[in-house]
Amino acid sequence: MKVAEKLEMINNQIIKACSKVARDPDEINIVAVTKYVSIKRAEEAVQAGLIHLGENRDSGLMEKWEVLKGEPQWHFIGTLQSRKVKNIIDKVSYIHSLDRLSLAKEIHKRADRPVSCFVQVNVSGEDSKHGMDPQEVAGFIRNLEDYPNIKVVGLMTMAPHTDDENFLRKCFRSLRELQEHIHSMELPYAPCTELSMGMSNDYTIAIEEGATFIRIGSALVGND
Ligand SMILES: *Cc1c(COP(=O)(O)O)cnc(C)c1O
Repeated sequence: MKVAEKLEMINNQIIKACSKVARDPDEINIVAVTKYVSIKRAEEAVQAGLIHLGENRDSGLMEKWEVLKGEPQWHFIGTLQSRKVKNIIDKVSYIHSLDRLSLAKEIHKRADRPVSCFVQVNVSGEDSKHGMDPQEVAGFIRNLEDYPNIKVVGLMTMAPHTDDENFLRKCFRSLRELQEHIHSMELPYAPCTELSMGMSNDYTIAIEEGATFIRIGSALVGND
């Protein structure tokens, strides 16, 4: 199926989810996750009107960037090794996976401007590999004051793979509560107004719980 057709279906779902909770669909930014697909398919996504593209590896991002350059805004959504920062730093508009001080230090060092970052949080506690413990987030963000090239625009989470809607809702809700708490700290470098949550299987629930960036791969551009 064409990306444009899939996008239309997703836009309809977004409108439906927003109307349930009286949100404005314009608040929802779709990040088209192109990590599974060819450069050609990524180009098709841009032509379909998608302005945010997401990649989870430095190699994939660099390869697609060579062709599409800065036409879309690039989002780095995967685990980021510090030594890879220099490869992507001048190409990305957002990094969704800030999860440790050593990474913040490297981003600060390599960037020539404040970079919009999401702090990745492990809200479910199920997969210890991805994201920070929620209890550590506020302290971590206070420490980022030392790295002015980091701008904390929001929080990000990956929900566990499950069909348990109530559990997903609980995860998204706790990320939102944490985001509101950080926002209320009024740190000039951490406005923390955004929530990056929701993927192909759970984005409508994420929207009902406050998502402003949804990251969609398989349901939008496919996975072949
Ligand atoms: C792959 C990936 C996505 C998109 O996953 P789909 O289920 O294909 O929509 C979103 N976020 C992150 C961090 C990913 O790695």
